[in-house]
This record gives sequence, structure tokens and C-alpha cells, in this order.
Amino acid sequence: MIRENLNKVEEKIAKICQKCGRKRSEITLIGVSKTQSIEIIKDALVAGLKDLGENKAHELKEKSELISGDFNWHFIGHLQTNKVKYIISHADYIHSVDSIKLADEINRKAEQIGKTQNVLLEIKTSSEATKHGLQTEKEILELSDYCFRSPNLKLVGLMTMAPYTDNFELIRKCFVRLRQTKEFLYESGFELKELSMGMTNDFEIAIEEGATMLRIGTAIFGERIKA
Ligand SMILES: *Cc1c(COP(=O)(O)O)cnc(C)c1O
Repeated sequence: MIRENLNKVEEKIAKICQKCGRKRSEITLIGVSKTQSIEIIKDALVAGLKDLGENKAHELKEKSELISGDFNWHFIGHLQTNKVKYIISHADYIHSVDSIKLADEINRKAEQIGKTQNVLLEIKTSSEATKHGLQTEKEILELSDYCFRSPNLKLVGLMTMAPYTDNFELIRKCFVRLRQTKEFLYESGFELKELSMGMTNDFEIAIEEGATMLRIGTAIFGERIKA
């Protein structure tokens, strides 16, 4: 089942890339494996998935101790400062940096284990109260600058979540806003590569607007078992 789902997602990505003149190789497909079992995740890796995403610190830690191989772990959920220690030696990318306090803790824990941690800043591009992230240009500039000055952090990009809605114009606005934030940072002297945006419901729009990292759960793994 996973292989079929993955093939379908790949076909769709290829089609959209062709439509908007982008290369498939510019895009990293992250399979969001939260709540999924070790067996199912291993199937996905055998089927060719190279990137896995988790949104809970303990879950990423536990799973990464049970599954190893040639793939990357992405931490994509909201991260509390006191939980950095659980994921620091496991996460290849942390997508959800949204405060100086958190960036500082990640830098310190990364230094302790002699690692340079790839991070993305989470940007709040919608007005939904449940979404996290930085909002003002001032906050975004300050945190970018802080990351660039932290020797054990490598700031590689920006992440956002659009609202869950069938209002596609609203979703597109969020993704455009993220791309414009990357352009704003470039003009301010910070060159970032990655735009982490697009989930099962909206990844077509995300690719059209420049996504380089897609975070896709349901379309690959099926419906999640609700906790
Ligand atoms: C769960 C989750 C996803 C994937 O959601 P799907 O709709 O299942 O594709 C992507 N990003 C984040 C931050 C998530 O928590």
C-alpha cells in the first residue's frame, strides 16, 4: 500500500513540476510518519523514501533509536526548549525554530555533541490562532541574524503551515508570503535555500509557489490513528 501511495504522490509531484517548469530534484519529499508504526515506516524506506518527519520530540527519539539507515529525520512540530535534548543527536533538520531562546538552546546542545544543526525558521503566514511562528519582519531579521552568528546552527530555510481549508486562494497567499519572506531575507543579506511548505491537502499549490521541502503524511501513510 505504501509503495502505491508513494508512487501516486511522486506522479503528482512530477506532473506539477512539469507544469510549472521546475525540476523534481529541487524538491525533498518528507514522509510525515507521526503516529505510524515502525513496521510501516520501514516499508516506506524500502519503497524509497529518503526523509521522515515527526512532530513530537519523544516520538522522534524513540523511532530514531529503532530505525537506522540512509535517510534524514526532520523535526517539524512545535518544540519546547526543555525537549531539545531528546532530539539533538537524531534530527538532521529542525523546521520549527521560532524564538531566540529556542535557537540558543539548540546551539548549546549541538555544541555539546560537536554538531552543526540544520534549522529552519517557522513563519506564521495565516491568522489562525493555533499556528506558531514569527510574524514581523523585525522578529524574522533578528532571529536570522542570531542563527547566522551561532556557530553550531546552520540556517537553511523557512517553514510554514497553511490553514486546513478548501479556500485555495487563502492557502496560496500563505505560501506566497513565505516565498516573499525568503526574498526579503535575501535582500537583507541572508541567503536561504529551503522553503518547507505543502502537506497532503495543499502540496500542488506549494510546488507552484516554490516549495523545496514537502511534508506529506496522509497521502503516503494513509489516515492517522487519532490519539
Ligand atoms: C502532520 C503534519 C504534516 C502532514 O500532514 P498531512 O495532512 O497528513 O500530509 C505536515 N506538517 C506538519 C507540521 C504536521 O504536523
